Amino acid sequence: MNRFCLILFGPPGSGKGTQAKLLRQRMAWPHISTGDMLRDHVARRTDLGVQIGEMMQSGKLVPDEMVNRLVEVRIAEPDCGRGFILDGYPRTIPQAGMLEKLLAAKGFTPVVVYLEVDYNRIVARLAGRRLCPVCGALYSLASNAPEISMVCDYDGATLVIRDDDREEVIRERLEAYDRQTLPLLDYFRKSGYPFHGVEASEGSPQAIAGRIEAVLPQPGSQASKGMASE
Ligand code: ADP
Repeated sequence: MNRFCLILFGPPGSGKGTQAKLLRQRMAWPHISTGDMLRDHVARRTDLGVQIGEMMQSGKLVPDEMVNRLVEVRIAEPDCGRGFILDGYPRTIPQAGMLEKLLAAKGFTPVVVYLEVDYNRIVARLAGRRLCPVCGALYSLASNAPEISMVCDYDGATLVIRDDDREEVIRERLEAYDRQTLPLLDYFRKSGYPFHGVEASEGSPQAIAGRIEAVLPQPGSQASKGMASE
């Protein structure tokens, strides 16, 4: 196929960020996380960051125009020329429409991987999630705890809990997902772009990354459109 970008799709807590980090190393493609980009604006208190801080803390989505603009600028950078991994974008139908136009102009096909995870597991995962504020490593108290409690294995920094990983906010994020993002499943299925469901409840992060790699097109293959779902 032509050049493609990988869209990691799934509910909050389905492991998009963890998988994107693993695949970024394996594929040597940039990992574009709109959540990370937006959090960075909030931390630096840019004009955008000041406008969106409260929305993010309460688990609401940031308006499409703001996120679209960030993505448009980011994917125009030279490191995205061979391919890239999108994590947390698109999250609404207008975002998907915008992305489709940008990709068509670049000659890229989107390949969608849907991480299928049981909802009960998601709440448990998010509530036990810890983040290194220095290197971005993600830990899960249930399945991937740091060696020393609340200390990053890689750089010794004190781990933090993301503001929006508090239980009442988790519920709001799942509601936002159901309302605004889930309709994209149908949109992707109808689009005719390659679409793969991947079981992401069971197995180590490495095993799940292996399942994702197994469904990705081989460089130069002819399978441009058409759908598949495992
Ligand atoms: P998760 O997928 O676990 O919710 P993210 O880091 O992807 O975490 O997103 C965190 C927050 O950032 C979201 O709750 C939302 O406020 C904002 N956000 C991230 N990506 C988008 C997007 N594509 N559109 C709108 N808001 C977004």
